[in-house]
Amino acid sequence: VVEITGLNKFYGRNHVLKNINLRVEKGDVLVICGPSGAGKSTLLRCINRLENFETGTVRVLGKDVKIHTNLIFIRRNTGMVFQHFNLFPHLTVLDNIIIAPIHVKKVAKHEAVEKAKILLQRVGLSEKLMSYPHQLSGGEKQRVAIARALAMDPEIMMFDEPTSALDPEMIKEVLNVMVDLANGGMTMIVVTHEMGFAKQVSNKIAFMDKGEIIEFATKESFFSNPTSQRAREFLSKIL
Ligand code: ATP
Ligand code: MG
Repeated sequence: VVEITGLNKFYGRNHVLKNINLRVEKGDVLVICGPSGAGKSTLLRCINRLENFETGTVRVLGKDVKIHTNLIFIRRNTGMVFQHFNLFPHLTVLDNIIIAPIHVKKVAKHEAVEKAKILLQRVGLSEKLMSYPHQLSGGEKQRVAIARALAMDPEIMMFDEPTSALDPEMIKEVLNVMVDLANGGMTMIVVTHEMGFAKQVSNKIAFMDKGEIIEFATKESFFSNPTSQRAREFLSKIL
């Protein structure tokens, strides 16, 4: 469902993505890991074209992201969850979740509300419907952000370090929601350093360093037998 070939991206003279090739199939849970500055966020942002890139092709659900008229389709079908939640501060939890389905997908309000309630139940936040983001903990905000992305019925969910801004006790509650999603068959691309999550539910791992994918492997071979020295060093630091 995502096919990247020969992708190169520069920030000025800084070559931040170097000949990236990557395939994600339906139902895959791909974990992207690697040191800071490796280009992980930039790669995610090229997939839904929040970022432009110089050469190569990115196809999402069969559609080329470089073709402008495909962008609406691609963004509707890819949910994105960021490190810093990015909820609308002036809207309640409920309104945060229903705004895109109503305005972008033209779903009737009562349907959007019903769906939002189901999603909030799924992320364990039924009682926070009328709360505002500032009244929530970090973990709660992130679970709302996930529910908001799911409200658009995306085919693919992308996460950029969704737990790295959270206190330890809140990490688990967010990861549990992500594990449920993965077990439900969602196609996911997750930038994270949570190797416990990677071990539990991912099927593929991409290890990036300095703009390159150094290793692209099944979970089993990545953890038991990383082929590159850099991946071994990285794992020894974080495991
Ligand atoms: P981290 O783990 O710290 O989030 P990352 O792997 O996500 O790192 P990126 O944010 O993708 O890394 O950054 C890759 C490179 O691109 C870095 O050298 C960074 O300094 C550079 N970069 C990122 N965003 C911009 C920008 N908007 N303008 C210029 N350079 C940028
Ligand atoms: Mg990043």
